[in-house]
Amino acid sequence: MRNDFIRNLLDLKGVIVKKVRYKKNFVKVHIELPVREQTCPHCKAETTKIKDYRTQIIKDIPIRFKTTLLSYRKRRYQCKECGKTFYEKAYFLPKRARKTTRVTEFIVDRLKTKQSMKDIAMQANVSINTVARLLPPLAVSAKQLPEVLCIDEFKGNTGYYKYQVSLMDGKTRKPIDIIECRYKSHLFDYFNKFSIEQRKKVKYVVIDLWKAYKDLAKTYFPNAKVVADRFHFTRYATEAVDTVRKQVQEKLNRSERKYFKHSRKLLLSKYSKLKTEKQREELKYILINYSEDLRRVYREKEELLALLQEENKAKAIEKLNLWIKRNLESDIPSLRNCAKTYFNWVEEIRNAIKVTYSNGPMEGYNNKIKTLKRVAFGFRNFTNFKARILLMSM
Ligand SMILES: [Zn+2]
Repeated sequence: MRNDFIRNLLDLKGVIVKKVRYKKNFVKVHIELPVREQTCPHCKAETTKIKDYRTQIIKDIPIRFKTTLLSYRKRRYQCKECGKTFYEKAYFLPKRARKTTRVTEFIVDRLKTKQSMKDIAMQANVSINTVARLLPPLAVSAKQLPEVLCIDEFKGNTGYYKYQVSLMDGKTRKPIDIIECRYKSHLFDYFNKFSIEQRKKVKYVVIDLWKAYKDLAKTYFPNAKVVADRFHFTRYATEAVDTVRKQVQEKLNRSERKYFKHSRKLLLSKYSKLKTEKQREELKYILINYSEDLRRVYREKEELLALLQEENKAKAIEKLNLWIKRNLESDIPSLRNCAKTYFNWVEEIRNAIKVTYSNGPMEGYNNKIKTLKRVAFGFRNFTNFKARILLMSM
């Protein structure tokens, strides 16, 4: 009865449970496979002749949080035709393994979640090394490039480099790969691995305003249009507002400064995102009472955000051109610098108006990475890091 119960828990079909020994720290289950007619691997003759047995201890997934050891009495058959001997095949056991296939599956399943390798090792009752050894083969690089390639960096601090680069399919929003470092030489090495036919398939490359990415796109993707990520380039306009805001704040006396600090969020958010009437009133008060420059830079920021929402793309591009032209002449330095940047990237920004692709979907993905880094206390080994990120996104 009890053995039946254990067999159900084990869920190893066709296995005979001979006895179960409950020890303090583990459960030992003695198992056998039934005698069956075997086909000799050497001459293909049929046989049921048993030569002898060998006992093998195998680690299985824990039963009710207790280590489970399978004591498997492995049978050796002898062929009646050629006389050669061979072991019966156990489907639940890979060749020469000391743990069942499903222990590996159990570990891989948990590697997909935000758990540390130490916790996973404890749950599976194996060493951290056993868990870590599974990772490198799972850090498989992409074989195919998508039509829309999103490139974004994140601060992974793994291996030797501070920033790692993630690649995502802009259409399916699935992560493709991770590159160890954002330097041009690394990026070029990476994309060198793809054939020109592969690279020609890429129609859009979405990037930050980062020169190395643009060079990369121009060099490796002859058919691609480069799209500036809207979340990234609009930040320049928001930062221009913040620069002026700080200048205003510095000139205030202490008590006023304290009140004024609240303005940061109000000024940097998009006006339509302000939720309450109180927020809108407060913003209005700040814009009217403090500085003409602040008012102007705020208005320009709002105009930029608004033109990106424009239904008529041609009109939006016309507005962008005017925006840049106007602000290149601005007497507010932060605004002028922003316009200069946009001027240098005008083609990529225009493309961002024409198509909706952005690196927005990568944000959720980057948050996952941050959590993983936190639970895992950082990664020194880039391959392990990459494997886990890719597993988590499956
Ligand atoms: Zn034989």
